[in-house]
Amino acid sequence: MDKIDILSLDIDELQEIIAGMGEKKFRAKQIFQWIHVKRVFDFDKMTDISAQLRTRLKEKFCVKGLFVQKRLESCMDNTVKYLYGLYDGNFVETVLMEYSYGYSLCISTQVGCRMGCQFCASAIAGFVRNLEPSEMLMQIYETEKNAGIRISGLVLMGIGEPLDNFGNVIKFLNLLSHKDGNNFSLRHVSLSTCGIVPKIYELAELKLQLTLCISLHSPENSERSEIMPVNRAYNLQELIKACRYYITKTGRRITFEYAVIDKVNSSDKDADRLSDLIRGINCHVNLIPVNKVKERNYTTAGNAVADFAERLRKRGINATVRRTLGSDIEAACGQLRRDAAGNDMIGGADT
Ligand code: SAH
Repeated sequence: MDKIDILSLDIDELQEIIAGMGEKKFRAKQIFQWIHVKRVFDFDKMTDISAQLRTRLKEKFCVKGLFVQKRLESCMDNTVKYLYGLYDGNFVETVLMEYSYGYSLCISTQVGCRMGCQFCASAIAGFVRNLEPSEMLMQIYETEKNAGIRISGLVLMGIGEPLDNFGNVIKFLNLLSHKDGNNFSLRHVSLSTCGIVPKIYELAELKLQLTLCISLHSPENSERSEIMPVNRAYNLQELIKACRYYITKTGRRITFEYAVIDKVNSSDKDADRLSDLIRGINCHVNLIPVNKVKERNYTTAGNAVADFAERLRKRGINATVRRTLGSDIEAACGQLRRDAAGNDMIGGADT
C-alpha cells in the first residue's frame, strides 16, 4: 500500500485515519502541530508520541520533501529565486521578495501550465501535472527554513493556473490558515488567475479573505484572445460579469493585472478602452513591464508603463506600477524550470 502524504491531509482527515488506527483523536492535533507549527517532519522527533505509535506513523505516512536544485540571489535587491526539485523529478519555481513590511513569497501551483498565454515562459514547456497541497505548503516551509525568515505575504503567481487546480489550491489555503497550524491570515494572500470564469463563481461562494487578481492584459476581445487563449472560452464581458459577482459576494476589492506590451496593448486607445471596461468596479489596476522571455519578442518601452498609468488615473482609474524585483537573476517566471526540464535535465542544472 502506498504511504499517505501527511502534509496534504486536513485535520479532520488526519483524525479519521488516526482513529482508524485505534488511537485517541487528540493525537491528530498533536501530529498536525508538529508538522505545521514546529515544522518537524521526522516522526522520530515527535517526542510526546509513544515510540510504538511513531513506528506505526512511519509505516502509514510519508512526507514528500522538496530539494533546492538551484538558488539565485539578486545583487540588486534581496530577491531569491528557488528552483525546487519534487519527489518525481519535476521542478517548480518559488520567489522570495523583500519589502519594507516584510517578506512575500510567490509560489507555483502546477508543474507547467495549460493556459498558453503567449508572453508567459511557463506556457512554453507545457503542462505536466497539478501540485498537491503538500507541495504548495512545502514551498513555504522549505524557503522559510532556507532563508531563516518567516513570510508575511503570499502570492499564487508562480508557475501554473491556480483555478485550474482548484481543489488542491483551496485545500492548501485551508491548511495554511488553519488555527491549529500556521494560522496564516488569507488577507495576506493574493491569488492570480487568467480568468477561468466558472471557477471565479465557485471561489466567490467560499468568501475567502484573499485578494483575487485577474490577469487582464487587454481590454479588447480579439487582441486578448490572441495573447491569452483562455479568452476564447471566457470572453471579457463574461469575465467582468464574474468579477462584479465576486466583489458583491465577498466584499473584497479585486486587482487587474496588465503587462504593458509595445504594439500589443500599450496605446492611448487601449488605456481608454480599459477605463471604459472596468469603470465603476471596486478594483485597482497593477501595471507590469513585460518580463523578457527568451523565445518571445515582447518588450515594454521606457516610459510606456508610467504613461499608461497616468492616462488611466486621468480617467479616474486607480492604477499602480509594480516594482520590478530580482530582474538580474533570471528572466520571466517559468524560465528556470523550462531550462531545467530541457537539456540541463540529464547533466543537472547548476546548483
Ligand atoms: N496563471 C495565473 C498566475 C500565474 S502568472 C495568471 O495567469 O494570473 C502571474 C502573473 O504574471 C500573471 O498576471 C501573468 O499574466 C503575468 N505574466 C506572465 N508572464 C509574464 C511576462 N513575461 N511579463 C509580465 N507578466 C507576465
